[in-house]
Amino acid sequence: MDKVVALCKRRGFVFPGSEIYGGLANSWDYGPLGVELKNNIKQAWWKRFVQLREDIVGIDAALVMNPKVWEASGHIANFTDPLVECKKCHGRFRADQISEGICPGCGAKDSFTGERMFNLMFKTFIGPAEESSNTAYFRPETAQAMFVDFRSVLDTTRMRIPFGIAQIGKAFRNEITPGNFIFRTREFEQMEIEYFIPPPQNDSDWQGVFEHWKKEMVSWIRDDLGADMSKVHEQEIEAADRAHYSKRTVDFEYDFPFGTSELYGLAYRTDFDLQNHQKFSGQNLSYRDPDSGEEFIPHVIEPTWGVDRSVLVALLSAYCEKEGKVILKLRPKLAPFKAAVFPLLANKPELAALARKIYLDLKADFMIAWDDRGNIGKRYASQDEIGTPFCITVDFQSLEDKMVTVRDRDSAKQDRVKIEEIKNYLAQRI
Ligand code: ATP
Repeated sequence: MDKVVALCKRRGFVFPGSEIYGGLANSWDYGPLGVELKNNIKQAWWKRFVQLREDIVGIDAALVMNPKVWEASGHIANFTDPLVECKKCHGRFRADQISEGICPGCGAKDSFTGERMFNLMFKTFIGPAEESSNTAYFRPETAQAMFVDFRSVLDTTRMRIPFGIAQIGKAFRNEITPGNFIFRTREFEQMEIEYFIPPPQNDSDWQGVFEHWKKEMVSWIRDDLGADMSKVHEQEIEAADRAHYSKRTVDFEYDFPFGTSELYGLAYRTDFDLQNHQKFSGQNLSYRDPDSGEEFIPHVIEPTWGVDRSVLVALLSAYCEKEGKVILKLRPKLAPFKAAVFPLLANKPELAALARKIYLDLKADFMIAWDDRGNIGKRYASQDEIGTPFCITVDFQSLEDKMVTVRDRDSAKQDRVKIEEIKNYLAQRI
């Protein structure tokens, strides 16, 4: 973990937030490379689950919603964690994360106060008066917007049940014990789908859809994120530990360096949310089947992915060291730069001009790095460390044969490729 955190800081993937002011505990900023990796993860997800499917549409909702949303969803009453305080060091911890009564702050045994339920929602005020009637909350999950916008999506699209609504966006939780780098922060991003189905006649009706999403999540983790699957586990969550709305939850856990913890979740939320929003808003949120005329409140299966935990797993899974050098074996489609272009020698104008032309041409279609410092070996090492899958070198022969050398990050194999073919070559390899 320390090595990945150091790499992130050294190369500009992730910096401590507000650093010039001494930071802000557990807040992190994505730097120039981190934002590319994160955007690539979000784009791969959107492509897979929205663009390539006919049964899912996207939305992008406001972060601050009408406070009644959180009454209806149960978050005001139930979105709490049990908080205890150590009487010795006054550290505050989540009671369910303490083992054998030992304080994680000072090591004192059985020195805790009684549990107090702490609501995790971030409060704010709308408008200039800080009055309780103006209290609003930053959303603690993206999910509720898909329920609140359900009617509008139905009215403006031709979606027929079963169908899903997807969203990527920020969520805020006033976590008692944030930490472990970007694993648990108070401000983070989620990628979520609410997949609406008819009220099940029997358990197998919803279980089939649940299984479909379980497979989709496994396939995403393995094929898109490129995670080391030996570290991924499915964890069935017992009724007592499930969220208040869930009839079944499976967590996808990952063996992080600091312990095995939740990466993603999959839940069957029944019709809890739409029923409550119908009740609290007084609006009809039922769906009318156009063929049978039958009207019902849909049930929902919810797969949810944390973006920041995805970034962390992509980095941890990709991190390798070879002969003392770091290679980040990211999936090419996730890599911040798809290729780097080098003129073999920087001080030869005709080489630099051709390399520059290739660079600018590729840049129209891909994120491309440029490097003309030091020797080729150093440039390769520098690109390996940030996961650039291909390095393109323009040499003297390129001026004659209109070909360049493309070096593969993982195999170090070199291909000679025609300049006019290079775009197709990259597109194909990525
Ligand atoms: P945990 O048990 O770790 O607190 P959770 O069960 O409360 O997580 P969900 O409500 O299921 O999490 O949120 C969906 C996803 O959002 C999680 O699987 C995770 O990837 C991500 N997530 C949740 N809380 C945080 C956080 N504080 N920081 C970063 N990502 C988070």
